Amino acid sequence: MGLLNGRKGVIFGVANEKSIAWAIAQILRKEGMELAFTYAGEALESRVVPLAESVGSKIIMPCDVTKDEEIEAVFKRIREEWGGLDALVHSLAFAKKEELKGEFMNTSREGFRIAMDVSAFSLVALAKAASPLMEGRNGAFVTLSYYGAEKVIANYNVMGVAKAALEASVKYLSADLGPKGIRINTISAGPVRTLAAMGITGFKQILDVVEAKSPLRRNVTQEDVAKTALYLLSELSSGVTGETIYVDSGFNIMGL
Ligand code: NAD
Repeated sequence: MGLLNGRKGVIFGVANEKSIAWAIAQILRKEGMELAFTYAGEALESRVVPLAESVGSKIIMPCDVTKDEEIEAVFKRIREEWGGLDALVHSLAFAKKEELKGEFMNTSREGFRIAMDVSAFSLVALAKAASPLMEGRNGAFVTLSYYGAEKVIANYNVMGVAKAALEASVKYLSADLGPKGIRINTISAGPVRTLAAMGITGFKQILDVVEAKSPLRRNVTQEDVAKTALYLLSELSSGVTGETIYVDSGFNIMGL
């Protein structure tokens, strides 16, 4: 008997088989959860649909999180087909490539707006749309952040500021959602080689530093992150909300 038998969840953020969201989806499915998937525009459809079908998903929909009508369509369909929802995975972020190098001061107004909209506000919009479907079911959300929300990481720039907004949003959302019996938490993941990570100038150096300096002396994998997502989306974490949980080989605890 799986931990999540009979439960239903929707995954935002699969781009390919290396995506953190895909590792999370696989572990949730293994524990019995029925899954819906969204993908960010037509270009990703041909990659995401086969992955979603391989885990038996019947709801696979486009959703660019900057488009309110696409968000609305996803939850309308989930309401019609499932009548409710138990879990939502928010594993997505975006900043223009030119914003992820050089001095943070040079961030453009438009670059700042886009990074904040896609990477932070989207969680607020999804929480508003999804939470009515989660009431009375002990629903839970999980989102993905990075240490650059708290400390300066070269080239992470506006994405660090967006992640700080994301982590603060989780705290405010947890206060709204808690009385409805719904939980929301952040995983602050160590660096993992994915499509999004490759956009960050000097990413290889970040991996090298974590391997050399973290208590576990290795980088984390998508599966390490997924196991904590399983905990946060299941009854195992029934008393936990509004938290940032580090899955980073312990890197964040190191001083000199
Ligand atoms: P990824 O490239 O596989 O996933 C990023 C996803 O964001 C993609 O599926 C992409 O389609 C989606 N996305 C971008 N713009 C979107 C939009 N407008 N609407 C909907 N979706 C959109 O990379 P990943 O590393 O798996 O990233 C997942 C999450 O993990 C992100 O929030 C990322 O910041 C976070 N994270 C990653 C690392 C890392 O080192 N890879 C570390 C810590 C946190």
